[in-house]
Amino acid sequence: TGGTEEAEDIEGVEKVQTRVTHSIVFVTSEAAPYSKTGGLGDVCGSLPIVLAARGHRVMVVSPRYLHGGQADKNYAGASELDYTKLRINLGSGLRTSGWGWKVYCFGGEQEVAFFHEYREGVDWVFVDHPSYHRPGNPYGDSRGAFGDNQFRFTLLCHAACEAPLVLPLGGYTYGEKCLFLVNDWHAGLVPVLLASKYHPYGVYKDARTILVIHNLAHQGVEPAATYTNLGLASEWYGALGWVFPTWARTHALDTGEAVNVLKGAIVTVDRILTVSKGYAWEITTVEGGYGLHELLSSRRSVLNGIFKNGSQDYFVVKKFCISQLYTFQYSVVHFVLEFSNTIFSPGITNGIDICEWNPSSDKHIASNYSVDDLSGKVQCKIALQKELGLPIKPDCPLIGFIGRLDYQKGIDLIRWAIPELLEDDVQFVMLGSGDPLYEEWMRATESTYRDKFRGWVGFNIPISHKITAGADILLMPSRFEPCGLNQLYAMRYGTVPVVHGTGGLRDTVQAFDPYSKGGLGEGTGWIFSPLSKESMLAALRVAIMTYRDHKSSWEGIMKRGMEKDSTWENAAVQYEQVFEWAFIDPP
Ligand code: ADP
Repeated sequence: TGGTEEAEDIEGVEKVQTRVTHSIVFVTSEAAPYSKTGGLGDVCGSLPIVLAARGHRVMVVSPRYLHGGQADKNYAGASELDYTKLRINLGSGLRTSGWGWKVYCFGGEQEVAFFHEYREGVDWVFVDHPSYHRPGNPYGDSRGAFGDNQFRFTLLCHAACEAPLVLPLGGYTYGEKCLFLVNDWHAGLVPVLLASKYHPYGVYKDARTILVIHNLAHQGVEPAATYTNLGLASEWYGALGWVFPTWARTHALDTGEAVNVLKGAIVTVDRILTVSKGYAWEITTVEGGYGLHELLSSRRSVLNGIFKNGSQDYFVVKKFCISQLYTFQYSVVHFVLEFSNTIFSPGITNGIDICEWNPSSDKHIASNYSVDDLSGKVQCKIALQKELGLPIKPDCPLIGFIGRLDYQKGIDLIRWAIPELLEDDVQFVMLGSGDPLYEEWMRATESTYRDKFRGWVGFNIPISHKITAGADILLMPSRFEPCGLNQLYAMRYGTVPVVHGTGGLRDTVQAFDPYSKGGLGEGTGWIFSPLSKESMLAALRVAIMTYRDHKSSWEGIMKRGMEKDSTWENAAVQYEQVFEWAFIDPP
């Protein structure tokens, strides 16, 4: 951390700029292609590679899940670092002495090992423990979430804190002056551990922590009694201590006391980031804050400071902000910066892996195509219809949905809308897994509408690519969406998104306006609001009508989506600004 990279001009002679590079440690419960259940896996599988290519030293620490299936092969390239068996003593919460292999947490002794693969410039580090070896996905199986998730992710955090100190990757350790990128609650104990367990011993004094919120709905809340398991000194209880509102308590004697790992992270972390601009605002509202909105508002000074004009402007403005001691005045400054939209841009919208998601080279799809030659897209549609046993109808609008079958994703809306929607001559294909109720509904709907509906229950990456390429419309009626990646993939594949106007969906999809640009039209999809069956159906009907009757408008929408720049490059530059902010400005 703190190294500089010298960039040279095209001739390779003149130095044109210097860029600060850092030692970055991603801590995450998922990283594709090793493990993935959603967008978190995609982000932690691709952003590290982009940052490494920009000169940073990057390590990703996540569990080594062995589910007993095909996916276990993903770890084949990672070998065990046999000299780094790390004993995790689940006990007092204090380091014994200097730099031992022993660390302390929970109430018994555990041992984790580290596996390592150096790939695409990144040190992929996998924490190995028997609790990560079981069928299902990283968080649970068909019976629901694993009961010991608090334990499993506590282990991850303790191990991740030791990794930069003890793993001599490529010959030398990352050391203390590193930057932890803490992703969601599973990694949330990392800043708490740094503050409570390492700082008192003078360790990690120069490290910084950034919490990236991908989804605030999951916070790692467990009964208060479990606090003693976490390996934290008792005086730190207040950081995680959490009280449920009265209505959420189960019985009269229930005091509602709990520990909330994400709260602990928000309290102790140096900086907080969200994965889109819209979500940055939503998490500070009652509806989007999931009980943490007030706390997040109180941390506004460390939440999302990304300055479009470079960090110099930032420091001038920040100085001014600090001089405004009152929250109200600070909010005014915040508002003005946001409003002027030249300096301040809260939240960093995720990019996408343009190699994995590229219609002109995608190995999973029937025919490759590009914005200059769209002919392969209809072949992908026919192949999808064939594979799923739907009638082969190249001109029939095909609507797709891909995602977790979860309340967040608005599956209930789709469920209510399907009978009306399928009165029309359309086909609907769903891919998803999650709530058994919705899985059952998908199976039942498939047998009711044999010619029009297919529901693929499960997690299947090749099928997700085939639907993204073969569908004409991708539906995303999410209740909230921190960023959303499927709409970005869809646009890149010329599949038109119809989305609820929330969070990252509203930020990334531009509503189609047929009258602008002198009648040429602009926009990349449809955004409906409010979240109701009626408004969703209305948007879908306009999209279907445009597909059928206004071919040139439709092609325009497709092409604008395909040409949209969703690469990680812009986001990576913004991340670097936050790194700079975290290091230069004292926490
Ligand atoms: P979230 O992170 O909330 O689940 P995102 O839209 O950010 O939603 O990311 C979802 C990611 O997971 C996408 O890459 C999507 O293709 C993938 N995905 C979701 N469900 C499935 C599934 N059943 N099979 C294959 N991929 C899936």
